[in-house]
Amino acid sequence: MPRKEILKTTRRLTEPFIVTKGKDFRLKDFDPTDTRGLIDKGEAAQLLERGVQWLAEEQDMLYAQDRWSVLLVFQAMDAAGKDSTIKHVMSGINPQGCHVSSFKVPSKEELEHDFLWRYIKRLPERGCIGIFNRSYYEEVLVVRVHQDILARQMLPPELVSERIWDERLTEIANFESYLTLQGTVVLKFFLYVSKEEQKKRFLARLDRPDKHWKFSASDVHERQYWNDYMAAFEETIRATASKRAPWFVVPADNKWFTRLVVAAAIVEAVERLDLHYPKVDAQKKAGLAAARNALMQEKEKAAPRARTKKA
Ligand code: ATP
Ligand code: MG
Repeated sequence: MPRKEILKTTRRLTEPFIVTKGKDFRLKDFDPTDTRGLIDKGEAAQLLERGVQWLAEEQDMLYAQDRWSVLLVFQAMDAAGKDSTIKHVMSGINPQGCHVSSFKVPSKEELEHDFLWRYIKRLPERGCIGIFNRSYYEEVLVVRVHQDILARQMLPPELVSERIWDERLTEIANFESYLTLQGTVVLKFFLYVSKEEQKKRFLARLDRPDKHWKFSASDVHERQYWNDYMAAFEETIRATASKRAPWFVVPADNKWFTRLVVAAAIVEAVERLDLHYPKVDAQKKAGLAAARNALMQEKEKAAPRARTKKA
């Protein structure tokens, strides 16, 4: 399929799920089971393969150019498919230019710092792709739903008020705006799974011994707070979606569709950068020609003969 055709398809895939204007965002306008009826599964697999290949080519140029960086943020409820989406979409990527950071419960050292500290340390350098498997958004999601976590963050009490969530959301929006103006492309993915599908996936994990390691009893406990999480996600997206750093609310009840939308969004964003290999100037060209000459004129030195032992 020619590139132009692929781009048309990616646009069709991403357009319904991109949020660039938070003010108008309502979670109820999105459906976790949505697959748009655009394509069948076989076609989807083919498209994904092409997208992954494309991404690999673009990444090579991103790295060579060494100007832009890309930050991909993944947020979701448990079992929404963050890990497997990251694995599939990035499967063609050169590990040298890509780094995945998974953020868990913060350590004692991390709690001794401002809330962005541990995330800033993991930002991608120029030419590289950074993937955040959970991110600074946990600071307005899990921390907001379970406010005892906030109490552990060692903040001076006079700085903690009801306004803290709005303040954090503004700080995050400003932080992302700063990053984009420094040459980091920021894309944020909320893998939107339904509560019913999560239950199915948990039960499937319980049925499979090879998946038991992924199961945690606390994941089931968290289901009690489902509505609180959804409210927190909605407010978060409303406050932090922008043209510069858009959210994608990706339907996550069908994994094949989730992967496709995420791949399409990344391909599109990277394509927009119009990447190319750095131009080689005349001086460098002359240097290359000289190097070629030197290599061609090099006399092959005879390989030293192996000494034969005297009997
Ligand atoms: P998986 O379950 O797919 O292996 P995961 O991302 O859920 O991956 P876990 O080790 O199960 O990883 O969970 C990480 C936990 O850390 C989550 O419950 C998350 O809410 C929590 N967490 C992440 N960031 C913070 C934070 N800043 N403060 C408190 N808890 C956090
Ligand atoms: Mg988990």
